[in-house]
Amino acid sequence: MRDFVLCLMAHVHDCWHCGAKDAASLFCRYCNTIQAPTPDYYEFFDLPRRLALDPEDLKNRYYTLSRLLHPDRYTRRSEQERRFSLEASSILNDAYRVLRDPIQRAEYVLREEGFPVGDQRNKDVPPELLEEVFELNMALDELRSGDLEVLPQLELFRRNFLDMLARIDEGLEELFRRHDAAEGDERRKILAEIRSTLNRRRYISNLVQEVDRQLAARNA
Ligand SMILES: [Zn+2]
Repeated sequence: MRDFVLCLMAHVHDCWHCGAKDAASLFCRYCNTIQAPTPDYYEFFDLPRRLALDPEDLKNRYYTLSRLLHPDRYTRRSEQERRFSLEASSILNDAYRVLRDPIQRAEYVLREEGFPVGDQRNKDVPPELLEEVFELNMALDELRSGDLEVLPQLELFRRNFLDMLARIDEGLEELFRRHDAAEGDERRKILAEIRSTLNRRRYISNLVQEVDRQLAARNA
C-alpha cells in the first residue's frame, strides 16, 4: 500500500533528517522520516495535473496517506515531525475535498493556471438564457403577488434548468478529457472554455436555488 508514497518523486529534495540527496518527497526514501509537505494538491497526491481523475484511485491514496499521517504515529516523534504531520494532515483533507469534486477540482486548476474564477459571470451568460431569466423573473413576481397559476410554469423552468446542468456536466467531462490530452496554447484555450462553462453552470445553479427558495417561501 505504501508503494506510491515511496514513489512520490514529483518534487524530491534532500532529507532534512538523514541528509540523503534527492531522497525525499513526503517521506524520505531512506529513513522514512516525514518532510515538509507540498501545498500543491496534485503533487501531494503524487498525481499529474489532470482534470479527469479516477475517484477510486484518489480515495485509495487518501486512505493510505490518512493512515500514514495518523497522529498516533507521531506521539513519540520530534516536534518537527509532529508539526509536518499536522500540516500534511490539513493539506490532505483540503486536497481530498477539492480534488474529489469535479467542479472544485476544475476551479482549483483554473486558479493555479492563472485563470481567476467567477469574474466573468455576466459576460458569459448567453443571450438565450437572459431571455429565459427575464421570463423567470416575471413568473416569480407573479408568484410573489399571489398568482398560483404560475406554479406549473416555474416547475417547468426548474426542470429545464436541471436539464441544462446535466448537459453542462456531460460537456465538462468531455472538456476535461480534451484538456488532459492537450498541451501549451491549446490547453489554455480549453481552460478558458472550461471557465466560461463553469460560470454558466454557476449562474444556472443559482437560478434553480432562487426558484426553490421562492417556492419554499410560498409553501411556508
Ligand atoms: Zn532521510
